[in-house]
Parts: sequence; C-alpha cells; structure tokens
Amino acid sequence: MTTLEDCRARDAADPLRPLRDLFTIPADVIYLDGNSLGVMPAAAPARIAAAVTEEWGQQLIRAWNESGWFDLPQRLGDRLARLVGAQPGELVCTDSTSVNLFKVLSAALKITAEDAPQRRLVVSERSNFPTDLYIAEGLCRERGFTLQLVDEPGQIAALLPETAVLMLTHVNYRTGAMHDMAAISAAAHAAGALAVWDLAHSAGAVPVDLNGGGADFAVGCGYKYLNGGPGAPAFVWVHPRHAQRFWQPLSGWWGHAAPFAFTSDYRPAPGIARYLCGTQPILSLTGLECGLDTVLAAEPLGGMAALRTKSLALTDLFIALVEERCAGHGLELVTPRAHAQRGSQVCLSRSEGAYAIVQALIARGVIGDYRAGDAQMPDILRFGFTPLYLGFEDVWHSVEHLRGVLATEEWRLPEFNQKNAVT
Ligand SMILES: *Cc1c(COP(=O)(O)O)cnc(C)c1O
Repeated sequence: MTTLEDCRARDAADPLRPLRDLFTIPADVIYLDGNSLGVMPAAAPARIAAAVTEEWGQQLIRAWNESGWFDLPQRLGDRLARLVGAQPGELVCTDSTSVNLFKVLSAALKITAEDAPQRRLVVSERSNFPTDLYIAEGLCRERGFTLQLVDEPGQIAALLPETAVLMLTHVNYRTGAMHDMAAISAAAHAAGALAVWDLAHSAGAVPVDLNGGGADFAVGCGYKYLNGGPGAPAFVWVHPRHAQRFWQPLSGWWGHAAPFAFTSDYRPAPGIARYLCGTQPILSLTGLECGLDTVLAAEPLGGMAALRTKSLALTDLFIALVEERCAGHGLELVTPRAHAQRGSQVCLSRSEGAYAIVQALIARGVIGDYRAGDAQMPDILRFGFTPLYLGFEDVWHSVEHLRGVLATEEWRLPEFNQKNAVT
C-alpha cells in the first residue's frame, strides 16, 4: 500500500521536480487539466509584456525584422519539431488545430485524387474529437468524398483498400487511449492510403516520431501540453515528400514565396512555409514560445523520454490509489492500463454524478474536467497529468479529495449539479 510519505519520497527523488518552478500554479490548486489548458509559464507575463511595450510600443513596424517577428512561426516550428520527431524546416506554428486540419486534409485529398481517383473514403473514428470530424465532414461534402466513421479501430483495416485518407487522433481526448502510429500508418500505406494524425493530446505529452512513424501529415495543439496559453497557435507538419506537391487551400500572402514582392499572382513558398496564410498573431506566438521553453527545459534532464517515464508513474499511481482508496464507490477505469496504449491522462466513468463529482472536486481545488457520454461511451471524469509541474504528492491529495467527495456525497449538493457552458 502506498502512503503519503512514499509519495513525498518519490517527489524528493524526482529529477524533474525543479521544472515545477517554471510555472505559476495558484496556491491550493492541484491542476489535472493541463490536457485542456496548460498552466501559465512563470516567464510568460514579463515576456508578453516586453513584446507589447518594447517591441510593439517602441520598435513598432521595425520589430518584424529587428525582433524576429516575421519568421517566428518557423523558429518556433523548428524547436517544436524536436518534440515530435520532425526535422527543422518541416513544421510551422500557426492558426488553430481545426484550420490546420482543413489545410492538410485538403492537400491529402488532392494527392489521392491525382494518384488514386477511385478511392473515395475518408476514414476516422466516431470517438475522434468533434472538430476533426466536422472539418472532415465539410471537406468531404465539398470534394465529393464520403466520411466513414468506425466504432472500433479493428474495423479500419477492411476499409483501407477504398480509403483515400485515414485521419486519426493519436491520443483520444476522452478516453486517453493511444494508437500505435507506426503500425497504423504502415497498414494505411501498404493499402495505398495516406495517414493524417492529430497530435493535440500527444505533443509535449508522449514521445512522437513523425518521420519514423511513417505519418504523411500532422497537426497539433499549442495550448494543451505545450502550455502556450488560451487559444495559442497550433502547428502543422507535412512530410517532405508531400510538402512541395500542392498548394494548401488557404493560399494567403504569408504562404507566398515572396510576400513583400506584392505580385498579383500566387506562388507558394517552398516547403512548409506555404502552410501559413495571413499575418501571424505575434503576442500569441510569444506566449507559445514561453510554453515551448518549459517543455524544452526538460531536454537536459532526459527530454520527452524522461517526461514519459514520469507521466506513466503518475498515472499508474493515480490508478492504483483510486482502486485502493475509492473502492466501492462505483468508479470504472476507462483508460487502457497498458502503457503502450495510454496517453498522459486517466479517465474514470461512473453511472451517476460524473459532472457533479468534477464540480465538487474543483470546489476543493482539484481541477479536472468532465466529458459527456453518448450512445457509445459513458460520462467521463477526466484527469490530465503533466509531469512538468505535477508531483506524486499531488496525486495522493487528489485521490483523497475524490474519496472525500464520494464518501460524503457532497457532489449531490445543488450547486455542483448546475451545468456551465464550458465543461
Ligand atoms: C483540443 C483539440 C482540438 C482543438 O482544436 P481548436 O481548433 O484549437 O479548437 C482539435 N482536435 C483535437 C483532437 C483536440 O484534442
């Protein structure tokens, strides 16, 4: 049986422990929602203030050159590339995940329309994040493709011979289940389909090897495990074999080969730069830079591999403590137990009160979130574990609060049963 003292000893021996000081974490909060909005890097307020007062305030238009505003999407992309198994020059930070998915899906459909016009399916999972499905649905309508959703990953293989693009999210937002990117991409390629991956719950959370994993296109989110701030720019990666091949559909001037030549015709920039569209949000990119700094600060301490080891230790401990200390309270583990099939979050289900239990935990300072169920999936209590700023003692206390909320039934209070707009 694990004790509070054991947890404290593990924190004391944790080589990643000093990284916690890179963040401003509110007192009395245990933050288990870094998979939805990462904690603020301590450096962010001063860095963003300097971008406002010094760069915007004093340099004005000169800052595009003098403070490197112009190539910020590429500079951040080159640094982020290291976290996802990509090379410098293959990735840019820009726009939102939804918008970037539209661009890459469109490019992927153009490639198959040319190489294999008989393939008319875009395949994804019904449990994928809704915006991914909505974007795919819209594009399929426009281009005359059919979006085919599967309920089980095992149903994908039979569809691949007719599939133009297989579009999957690497780590499922609701269950925390992780796909084997290399095996699935290889199966897609063997059958003649392209593989588009969404790394929203992977980048900065689990090691990703885009080049080694055989992906064709990828997008990901800046405000989750990358701690880039609310609505931070997302990222887009294209395998070099496809990068030069097509215009992306939002052919704006920032993706032009020579934006300041102001020619009347569009000529795409070489490589990934063509996936930019218009003038970039410099203040938001500055926030993202602070977030990337926090993840890259782990590099001298073992980088993503060390973060992954700690993340698995935290989620293993959470699962074990919930099973030991909350037994008999009707909680079920939804996230796969196998390490190879788990991201950096743990999801629990309960037939009654999932939303209210999360609200009662938040009132106690333990911030997780709730995702509503549907025909396929029960209501879920979702807990994200960011190894950069969470410790083993945090896990202990969060489980104790969960036990308290269940044992006292305080979740039944009316104030915890009123739904907010954002869950
Ligand atoms: C969070 C998330 C998004 C978010 O998309 P936005 O365009 O930033 O709103 C998209 N896809 C997945 C899988 C996500 O988890």
